[in-house]
Amino acid sequence: MKEYSSDKQFAAEADENDPLKNFREKFLIPVRPDGEKVIYLAGNSLGLQPKSLRSYVEQELKDWETLGVEGHVHAKNPWLPYHELLTDKTAKITGAKPEEVINMNSLTSNLHFLFISFYRPDKKRYKILIESNAFPSDHYAVQSQINFHSMIAGTDCFDAGNALIEMKPRKGEDRIRTEDIEDLIEKDGESIALVWFAGVNYYSGQAFDIERITKAAHKKGCTAGFDLAHSAGNMLLKLHEWNVDFAVWCNYKYLNGGPGAIGGAFVHEKHLRDNTLPKFLGWWGHDKKTRFLMDHRYIPIPTAESWQLSNPPILQLAALNASLDIFEEAGMENLRIKSEKLTAYLEFLLKEKNDNNIEIITPSEKNERGCQLSLRLRSGGRDTYNRLIGEGVICDWREPDVIRVAPVPLYNTFEEVRNFSGILHGDKLYF
Ligand SMILES: *Cc1c(COP(=O)(O)O)cnc(C)c1O
Repeated sequence: MKEYSSDKQFAAEADENDPLKNFREKFLIPVRPDGEKVIYLAGNSLGLQPKSLRSYVEQELKDWETLGVEGHVHAKNPWLPYHELLTDKTAKITGAKPEEVINMNSLTSNLHFLFISFYRPDKKRYKILIESNAFPSDHYAVQSQINFHSMIAGTDCFDAGNALIEMKPRKGEDRIRTEDIEDLIEKDGESIALVWFAGVNYYSGQAFDIERITKAAHKKGCTAGFDLAHSAGNMLLKLHEWNVDFAVWCNYKYLNGGPGAIGGAFVHEKHLRDNTLPKFLGWWGHDKKTRFLMDHRYIPIPTAESWQLSNPPILQLAALNASLDIFEEAGMENLRIKSEKLTAYLEFLLKEKNDNNIEIITPSEKNERGCQLSLRLRSGGRDTYNRLIGEGVICDWREPDVIRVAPVPLYNTFEEVRNFSGILHGDKLYF
């Protein structure tokens, strides 16, 4: 018996039997000019707005309106400790202890701040290992960290020119094999200061084995950090247990915190009380009890909060809090169960069509991918993408030849996935 079927009936029943089916109602789905809802498959790029988000933000606007500065202490949710409302929920989503996570700044800023603590090159150990097709911002940030340290240390200390190791897939392959990452670290590890990988590659949709990569890095004395932009709210993460040193992510993709949402960061418990770590400081990292004594003796909060610099943007935290409450209610494990089915269904439909022009470059194994499938179109990709947009499918195009689609378990349905496949293949009878 086949697990999936392209019959309309199958999709209808899968939606009917979906234990998370009511969560779609909690989101605002964009509509086309004709009033029909779009098929939104871009939650990996910008998550949709929770309906509840407005009231979370309005509460803070109201408290500001009626209390002014007194809101820091007397708001319904006082602003001084406001970020603490999000801590446990963020920890659950990332598989961390509450003291290991903090929502602050934005992704690339957090990358730089944490690199200050965790990338400390010296003559012998100065290289950074990344994926060759890492996200551009990560490339710029990592290269600029290398350049910065080389300027400070002097060019005779280490060679900035060969400090970046960019790992490519084997010839003819799209995914990087874990065993190849392990072999490279085993071979060159002594000169590698930091292994910096994505949790899920934004382009190929490949999910990396964070636990194995971390283990391989530690075995050779390297630090292991991860960019979880495409993992947080998508994959089941166990950052504490996997012994990851540090990680950063954004909250506007799968986590629906809104455009440009405040970012997230993780620092493993074992580093939290290490006062030898270099760190750029601000008053929001200082001990909460004595912060307002305003003296100049810095006492760090013994948690990831000590990486905070400024008092945080409450409106952004409120927006994110609305979405985190929905994740709390749905549960990451439940979301992942649905997500695996929904993406496997999409893969089934695409493979059944047997269209030679479309190649799925995302791995087929469920542990090697999240929601997203990246479709390489051998020809006419850009036109196909434009046609999809014209027919009410929101997905995205990545040069030179890839369309990324991500059915998200919180608000996408099996019926939408089926309709997408029909539209992609220009198969009107499909409905
Ligand atoms: C989305 C994304 C970013 C974006 O960085 P911002 O600082 O939030 O603008 C960076 N890196 C990766 C891997 C991403 O997927």
